[in-house]
Amino acid sequence: MEKETIFTKIRDGIIPSNKLYEDELCFVILDINPIKKGHILVISNKPYTDISECPDDVISHLIKIAKMFDLKLREKLKCDGTNILINNGSSSGQEIPHIHIHVIPRYKNDGIKFGFSHEKYEENEITKFKEMLI
Ligand code: 5GP
Repeated sequence: MEKETIFTKIRDGIIPSNKLYEDELCFVILDINPIKKGHILVISNKPYTDISECPDDVISHLIKIAKMFDLKLREKLKCDGTNILINNGSSSGQEIPHIHIHVIPRYKNDGIKFGFSHEKYEENEITKFKEMLI
């Protein structure tokens, strides 16, 4: 049986949404709690939890549709750029365990700051990471 999420309920019309697009693999809605107005979500029709579960053809398609909406946001909202991001797993801040791509319109000097801090590698530590990840 399919896992039920807020997004499967939105997909099926059980929870109302402002749907902008749908096809055989995904649908697009306005985020109800936007970081910037016009913030959209590109959501897989099937409730894969994260990128590791999501087949390559589906994730490729989600990215293609995110690109399509990046162009639309630039054209219609006259934004200067977008943040395109996936919260991938609960430890990364993913609240809804159903893969989706955020596309957030951005404007010059819009004052939005993402709260990432940075670590520093100790001496030679970056080489160890390279060896682990190569
Ligand atoms: P996550 O943290 O999982 O990457 O993002 C989930 C997003 O879904 C959040 O930005 C949140 O505002 C949005 N969201 C949660 N519930 C609803 C809903 O019922 N309708 C809509 N349109 N967006 C929702």
